[in-house]
Amino acid sequence: TRTQVAVIGAGPAGLTTANLLRQRGVDCVVLEAQSREFIEQRPRAGFLEEWAVRELERRGLAGRLLQQAGQHGAFEFRFAARRHTVRYAELTGHHHFVYPQQELVTDLVAAYADGSAGDIRFGVRDVRLHDLTGDSPSVTYTDPHTGQSHRVECAYIAGCDGARGVSRRHIPAHESVFASHDYGIGWLALLVEAPPSADGVVFGIHPRGFAAHMARTPQITRFYLQCPPGDDPANWSHERVWQELHTRLAVPGAPITEGRIVERQVLDMHNYVVEPMSYGRLHLAGDSAHLVAPIGAKGMNLALHDAFLLSAALTAQLRHGDGARLAGYSADCLRRVWQYQEFSQWFADVLHGATHADPFHARMAEARLQRLLSSPAAATAFCELYIGKL
Ligand code: FAD
Repeated sequence: TRTQVAVIGAGPAGLTTANLLRQRGVDCVVLEAQSREFIEQRPRAGFLEEWAVRELERRGLAGRLLQQAGQHGAFEFRFAARRHTVRYAELTGHHHFVYPQQELVTDLVAAYADGSAGDIRFGVRDVRLHDLTGDSPSVTYTDPHTGQSHRVECAYIAGCDGARGVSRRHIPAHESVFASHDYGIGWLALLVEAPPSADGVVFGIHPRGFAAHMARTPQITRFYLQCPPGDDPANWSHERVWQELHTRLAVPGAPITEGRIVERQVLDMHNYVVEPMSYGRLHLAGDSAHLVAPIGAKGMNLALHDAFLLSAALTAQLRHGDGARLAGYSADCLRRVWQYQEFSQWFADVLHGATHADPFHARMAEARLQRLLSSPAAATAFCELYIGKL
């Protein structure tokens, strides 16, 4: 097969890139390791920042999202048995749209594969990238049904295959810097069949560990519980989960509604950034280039931001012979990436401060929280980053 852009991975980054390339008359082929059914049901993120939704809307990719997504403009901190509401939409003029990631993926696959007859190949195995620094790179993979090897020849490769993908590993170590940070903390991520227990997000700060509540749909709610890194989800029985959620999150007059736990997984809180995000004809986008622990709900938004920039840059190059945007692609993405990394780090210190072994760190976290809740200027600065208004 010959195409202009080979897109590896059909997550938010890859599918958005592919849709926007096709809209602008650039040919592409998407290669995805999983099946269509699998990616359309994989629950992950749920909060889209307003600037990202408006850009999807401008490109005709937000039809169902705008009909179905809830809007959030406030969240709560709960600590010392009290509630403190932060009304970020009032302070910034911007909302979050609450739309499960698998719904967005479903919409993007439909727009690309069904709406515009885009070429997408599911279940591919053994994806390898070749000749990245020459003029004619290619990608090989094995067809899962026939066991045959295929080659996609292209002009550019968009490496959108997430945190565990292969694209990033094709960049020689001496050609990029891998900057990373490990919090040494785990989060037990839970999906529960229960209606939300509060209007918005609730962050519980407690000496037993952080906990959070995030509405997803009227029937499904996400909860998080701080736990040791690498903890076994089997250590968290139904009874233990609910006991900890009630202890860390509930306050008088604001109980937590229980339900069946349909997903339990432990996420180790760590972040990384690959810099630069480009190597020869390979350009990374989304989690393959940078991971932000889900502390501030930033990952999917950054994946979309990269996809908007990459599709525009590839179009300028391939349709108009203008390489300036592609040359600046990595730096353009990384401005937002590093602002979000810094925000997530700051916020993580606040949320986990109550369990910090070092009393100096614990008191610093308290001081930051108090300043955020008492100073409108500090609250506005925080909220602009929280909603991604840069
Ligand atoms: P992915 O969505 O990971 O997509 C990569 C795709 O590549 C996948 O479909 C994968 O199957 C495929 N792939 C992998 N390897 C290969 C290969 N070798 N060949 C071909 N295909 C391959 N972010 C937010 O913004 N808000 C939130 O509220 C939020 N909550 C989260 C909660 C959880 C529990 C988790 C795990 C993450 C959360 N995130 C959140 C992060 C968000 O889900 C990711 O940042 C987002 O999925 C990144 O999109 P992506 O397209 O870069 O990567």
